[in-house]
Amino acid sequence: MPKYRLLAPGPVPVPERVLQAMARPVLHHRAPEFIPVFEAVRADLKRVFQTEEEVLILASSGTGAMEAAVSNFVSPGDRPVVVLGGKFGERWAELCTAYGAAPECVDVEWGQAVTPEAVREAFERVPEARCLFVQASETSTGVYHPIRELAAVVREHPDRLIIVDGISAVGVHDLPTDAWGLDVVISGSQKSFMLPPGLAFLSLSERARAELGRATGPRYYFDLRKELAVQPENQTAFTPAVSLIFGLRESLQMMLADGLAVAFERHAMLCRATREAAVALGLKLYAPVSPSHACTAIRVPDGLDGKGLVRRLRDVYGFTIAGGQGRAAGKIFRIGHIGDLDAFDTIAAVAALEMALSDLGFPIKLGEGTRTATELLRDFPPRGG
Ligand SMILES: *Cc1c(COP(=O)(O)O)cnc(C)c1O
Repeated sequence: MPKYRLLAPGPVPVPERVLQAMARPVLHHRAPEFIPVFEAVRADLKRVFQTEEEVLILASSGTGAMEAAVSNFVSPGDRPVVVLGGKFGERWAELCTAYGAAPECVDVEWGQAVTPEAVREAFERVPEARCLFVQASETSTGVYHPIRELAAVVREHPDRLIIVDGISAVGVHDLPTDAWGLDVVISGSQKSFMLPPGLAFLSLSERARAELGRATGPRYYFDLRKELAVQPENQTAFTPAVSLIFGLRESLQMMLADGLAVAFERHAMLCRATREAAVALGLKLYAPVSPSHACTAIRVPDGLDGKGLVRRLRDVYGFTIAGGQGRAAGKIFRIGHIGDLDAFDTIAAVAALEMALSDLGFPIKLGEGTRTATELLRDFPPRGG
């Protein structure tokens, strides 16, 4: 068995320090020792989300927080504006439909970012629309959507909310929640937070809090009013994922130790090195114009078996990357840059990619990609360096 190396855009490798913190006896969540841990985590989450407002912690995968955002802000019959353009954009639309709404969808070619004009036009078509649902980083296509500009469009109307799936963007891209006026921002533990799956985070602006009572559809576990009533007092409405929260305390400290700017720079550099290495190998990028720094999506060359390439990287070389999802299945593969990864992980992934491509008969010169990546990452210190 080759050594296991995880470079997916979630789940991600977890640092040993975080694993150690979780490997302790389970504490009762009402125990006095848990209160300061929860309090510290709440404070640090606000720093990572760049907000003064509460960031709620939920025991669920990221999609649970997406569902919470829909069930708390969308009523049956509503016409929210939803940006498609990838599997996760489609998930927003499916959730809105499941809660009885009729989303006004902005279709975007996969691999492209939505334009602020397209969103403004959607609001003009449906003036009663109150919410915009969008991904910051559309992980399925490796695209970053222009959140700052989209927020400006939403802010042209005082009653509208911008609800951002930042699951693979928080801690990766600079996404200042308060400064840009983002009403709801969501993330999840198994992305840049370097934790196992199981926690979701959700910020609420003052405007969003004021809207919590409006939705008329059903909600129970994800009724955010329940959590908002108790989390500021370091309690949770239901049993929290205690062990993960102990891990979260460590990972937040690690994320904040060097400052967020360093994390943004690291993700940008790992992304750039991967992209330029791919181009040096004669590959084509799937998101050439507005790349997400969470993962790099690369087109499978014509005539090559895309699923076979991903399988070979896993079975022969030990590298778990991601293939394409939905309509991109078999057509692209994605190399993650999030989690406990550094320059050497990226260089090694490029080396394995070269070997697997060469095995499958794709004409490359071994070392062309790794040389490009190495040169770019030469002066970029590994984490903690
Ligand atoms: C990973 C991811 C999700 C899904 O999160 P789960 O934890 O699998 O529910 C949703 N949106 C984006 C942008 C993601 O990257």
